[in-house]
This record gives sequence, structure tokens and C-alpha cells, in this order.
Amino acid sequence: MNNLNEITVRKLKGVSALKEGELHAFGIYTIQDLLNHFPFRYEDYRIVDLSEVKNGEKATVLGIIRGMPMLQRYGRAKNRLTCKVEVGGLLVTAVWFNRHYLAEQLTLSREIILTGKWEQQRLQITVTHSEFADAAGGGRAGSLQPVYSIGGNLTQGWIRKLIGAALEQYGEWIPEVLPAQLVEKHRLMSRAKAVELIHLPDDVKQGQEARRRMVYEELFLFQLKLQAYRSLGKRRKDGIAHVIDSASIREFASTLPFELTDAQKKVVNEILTDMRRGSAMNRLLQGDVGSGKTVVAAIALFGSFKAGHQGALMVPTEILAEQHVRSLERLFQGTGIVVGLLTGSLSDRKKRDVIAGLQMGIVHVVVGTHALIQEPVVFHSLGLVVTDEQHRFGVNQRSVLRRKGISPDVLTMTATPIPRTLAITAFGDMDVSTLKEMPKGRKPIKTYWVKHNALDRVISFVRKEAAAGRQSYVICPLIEESDKLDVQNAIDAYMQFQQACPELKVGLLHGRLTAAEKEEAMGEFASNSCQVLVATTVVEVGVDVPNATLIIIMDAERFGLSQLHQLRGRVGRGEHQSHCILIADPKSETGRQRMKVMTETTDGFEVARRDLELRGPGDFFGTKQSGLPEFKIADLVSDYEWLEIAREDAGELTESDGFWSGDTYKALRETILKDGLFQSEQLD
Ligand code: ADP
Ligand code: MG
Repeated sequence: MNNLNEITVRKLKGVSALKEGELHAFGIYTIQDLLNHFPFRYEDYRIVDLSEVKNGEKATVLGIIRGMPMLQRYGRAKNRLTCKVEVGGLLVTAVWFNRHYLAEQLTLSREIILTGKWEQQRLQITVTHSEFADAAGGGRAGSLQPVYSIGGNLTQGWIRKLIGAALEQYGEWIPEVLPAQLVEKHRLMSRAKAVELIHLPDDVKQGQEARRRMVYEELFLFQLKLQAYRSLGKRRKDGIAHVIDSASIREFASTLPFELTDAQKKVVNEILTDMRRGSAMNRLLQGDVGSGKTVVAAIALFGSFKAGHQGALMVPTEILAEQHVRSLERLFQGTGIVVGLLTGSLSDRKKRDVIAGLQMGIVHVVVGTHALIQEPVVFHSLGLVVTDEQHRFGVNQRSVLRRKGISPDVLTMTATPIPRTLAITAFGDMDVSTLKEMPKGRKPIKTYWVKHNALDRVISFVRKEAAAGRQSYVICPLIEESDKLDVQNAIDAYMQFQQACPELKVGLLHGRLTAAEKEEAMGEFASNSCQVLVATTVVEVGVDVPNATLIIIMDAERFGLSQLHQLRGRVGRGEHQSHCILIADPKSETGRQRMKVMTETTDGFEVARRDLELRGPGDFFGTKQSGLPEFKIADLVSDYEWLEIAREDAGELTESDGFWSGDTYKALRETILKDGLFQSEQLD
């Protein structure tokens, strides 16, 4: 078998050591790399009827030379060549710039193919490419020409020829990688055919068909990894089969200060069913801000405790960790559950105590920041890991625990609703539960967008809310370039509000405060001894003070949509009507669009969808560590349907026993293994 990935491009005629180095810059080392360097668009050189070309459009037409060429020179090395050409019965002027050497070839009655911009009023074509119809073949005319992302000293013409030669020499050796039944099911071209036609299509439709095949392949192979991971997780029986009786859960639920929504009940059942199984749970809990995810996590942690195991709740910030400890202690009152806190800023002694408690099994639930799984924490019997407000916890981190030799159940809760297309990409290996309903009695938050000059009115709103016993947040943007400015900004706003509202207590919370100071500021706000909290985005995720009914976001144009939605979610958590005021004078159109989206909808899934539209999938998560792969050819937005189809196919295949043994899928199993996501023993 000829492995195209082992043959270097040097083997092709015309690839010198120098050229080879230039190809490397584009990631092209082997014949396989070269053939997989797909064009990103095509240049259309097919001959059309001039009468069908609109004014200003670029087209390729066939003409006959009817006049003598005229050459004008101006400046140094600059010139303009014109010639009368008959095209479809019309006498037009062809214009070339800086192509003086063509003049002598423009002889009367010769047929010429012109590509260029058509200017109807002046009956003129500005030529970008021309060929003589009687010249020997090999020209561009009459075809679609691929355009590659390539640069430096490599020209489009050269790379086209090189790829053409590679196809001719090695095209037959391109192996099929997809299972035959799937190729048939979706009527796909063979891989060899698709690679050939994606480079050299006869027409647009062929190019599209070839692309469809490659898109499917890319999405399928990607989903295959995730689905294999998921299926393996279910096949392994080394997880913890929690023994949880429903009566104790019901009893615990009855002690809660509110009745669970139907959505919460459904999700709790899905989670408990997973926990009772012998394979490890790997579930994503999606729910809009304020939909009540924390209490769902609490019930799962309670279940783990009842089954004699420990639980860990991981959160992104210390403020959130402290808040969760407080609310869990309240919820677990009378259950005997001991809750511990483990964060970076604890004193060494306190840390040691908690770690020892976990090791001995006398601390049942630990809440901490992500350092938790990295620290040398040994659990007596870890049964459940919940990660909150964290959508950057990728497959790789999830497998960290497993590599430590423990397979606890894992529940991941997302802070922000994620459009389905991204969810099944970034979290494709997980089972998904969604909280589709808000707790009863919630009123949608009213959102307004005002300019900076309305600040006085905004301040009177704050005072009005306080007079009615409610509280307000004032959020100042994080200034990434400058820590100092950022804090200064918050301090300025703090002084401004303090001065403008002398009857109120105003608090201040920003990243430069010590852990104790932060805790104090948060505590005062939570207990309503301070009515206005001026804060940077440290309150972005998860902070829960139901009596706060107004949030003012300064310079709102500096925030992304999902962040704005998260911030807005700090209010509207109780029975009172809540308001969100965005103060912004956006300079860009996207900035204005973002403000509009916020005032138009309070539905997080809708916000996420609009965000994806405005930003594109690459930027959606905003960071490199998003866990979102980069696709070569597939586009997560426009190829969404194929993503769903590929996911289903991959799921079906990996669930069948046939996939995991025998020769039929051996090559596919090996591709999965190469990824490093799997330990080879997992495949045994
Ligand atoms: P999130 O999903 O954003 O994490 P939380 O879990 O913080 O939301 O819940 C938001 C608020 O709603 C909290 O104050 C919580 O006590 C309250 N809550 C949760 N579930 C219910 C319910 N079923 N009925 C009434 N209030 C609820
Ligand atoms: Mg929460």
C-alpha cells in the first residue's frame, strides 16, 4: 500500500529544495498534505454570452480582433494597450494595462478569449486575463480555476500545476476512509474522486458535491472521536454505581424553600439515572442564567452523599466558591453533610485541614476553584464532580481525573446557553440536559439602552429602587490593557455614586481587593446593608442576590453579548420586576447591534444565536482554550445540518459492537487512537 503521507513533495517535478521550504510554510510536507490543501474559492473562466453580463461584472467572453492595437505609454514602465474586438456582434474596446508585449500578437481576425470587467456605457472590457483561442491547450479559459491560500514566492499558477501533477501521479492511491455503508447512504463521491474534483471541477455543481463529501468526512471523523469517547465511557463499568433511594431524594426536595420546576425535576431524574449506572456519568447541564442550576447540583451532591460518597463542586472564582459554600450549607442543614471550602487564598493550615478531612472522608462536599483537581487532593471516595459556570472545561481536562485512576460521575453546568451547533461540537461527547423553564413568578427583565448623557436619570432610578427596598449593581468594564485604569474606573464610579446618593451605602468590589475584602463587600451586599454595589466583572458569573433588581452596565459596548447576558442575569432572580440599563455610545455597527439584541430579547439561547451570527464560531467562546476545534473545510454555521447527520452516524457506529473489534473498522479505530485523547488500554 502506498501511503501518501510518507511521500514528500520533493518527489514531484519542479519542487526544488527552495520551493519545498516554501511549501512547508503552508504546512505542506507530503503528497497527502498537498492534495488536502483545498482551494478556498474558484475563479470563473467559463465563456459566457456578453448580453448576459451585467454592467460592472467580471466575465470571460470570446471575441474576434477587428482593429489595430494602440499603445499609450505614460510614466516609467506604465502603459495602456487598447484594441477593438467584436464580441457577440458588438464592437467593444479591450483595454490592457502594462501588457505592452501583447501588441504584436493582436492580429486582425484572430480569436481571443478575454476575462475582465464589463463597462456597458463605454462598451469597454478592462482585461485581467486573455488567451488566444488558437493557442495550444492548458489555458484557463473555459474552466473554473481553483484559488489557494498560498503566498510568498509561490504563485497560483505554480501551485495549480503542482497539484494537477500530484493528482495525475498519485490520484489513484488516495484511500477511502469512510465506511462503505455511509458513502452509499449519503451518495457521496469516493474520496479519490472528491479530492480530484475539489481541485479541478468541471462546473460549480461538481465542486459543491466534492466539497460536500469532504465536509461530511471532516465532521464525521471529528464526531467519531467524541462519540467513541462517549461510547467507551458507557461500556466501561468502572464508574461508581450510586445507590440512591428515591424516597430520600423526595424528602430532601421537600425541605427546599421552593418547589422544583418541572424542568428541574426532569433534569434531576436524568442525572440520578446516570449516577445509578455502573458507568461514569458525563453530562452537560444547560440552562439560562437564573434557571436554577445550583439546586439541581445540590440534589445530585446530596444523592452522592446518601450513597456513601463525596462530591466536589468546581467554580471559576473564589467569590463564587464562597457563595456556593454558604448556599449549600443552608440547603444541607439537618442532613449531616459537611461542606468544605478549598481555594488558593486560604491559609495553609485551613487548606491542610480540608485536605485531611477529604482524605478521611469527614468532609463530604468540597467547593473550590479549578486548582482543586490539580492539587494533591486525595479523596476518601470521590463519587461526583460538578463544574459550574464553566464552558472551557474541555474533553482533555475531563479525562484528567480518569487518568488519575478514578472515574467519578461528572456533571458540567454551562454559564451561558450555547447554540446547539457549538454545543455538539465542543461537548459532543456528553449527554445533555436542558433546563427549559424559569422558576415560577419570574418577570422578564426590562432592558434599556441609553447614552452617557442620561447618567443623571439613571442615578435617580437607583435611588428610587433603594427607596423601595431594592438594591442595584453598577458594573464597570474590565480594561484589559491596564489593571490600574480598570480599578481607577471602578473607584471613580464608586465616588460618583456615593456623592450622588448620600442617603445610601455604596460598596466597591474589584480584582485588586484581598480575598477578605472581597468577601466583606459581597457579604454586605448580600445582607442588604449596602444598597449599591459598584463592581468590575468579578460579579459576572453566578452571584446570587435575589433582592437586587437593577443592574447598570457602564460602557456596555465594551462587553460581548454573552457577557452582557450573564451580567444581566444578576438581577431578575426574585419576584420583583427587574431592570437592566446599558450605558453605551457604541462607535461600531456591531456595537450597536449588540445593544439592540440585548433590548430585544431576554432569552439566552436567542442571545447566543445572534451572538454566533455577529461573531462567527471561531470567536464565539472568545478564547483559544474554548475546546472548539478548527475545521479545514467545514463551516459550523452553514454546514450545521451535516454536523447533526455526522454526529448521528458516528454515534450509531460507535455504539455497535462491530465497531470495536475485527478488521472492518481497524483503520478508523487507529485514526481515533492517534489523537491522544484515548489511552490504548481504553480500547481493550
Ligand atoms: P443559575 O442557573 O443561574 O445558576 P441559580 O441556581 O443561582 O441560577 O438560581 C437562581 C435563583 O433562583 C436562586 O435565588 C435560587 O434560589 C432560585 N430558584 C432556583 N430554583 C427555584 C425554584 N424552583 N423556584 C423558585 N426559585 C428558585
Ligand atoms: Mg449558577
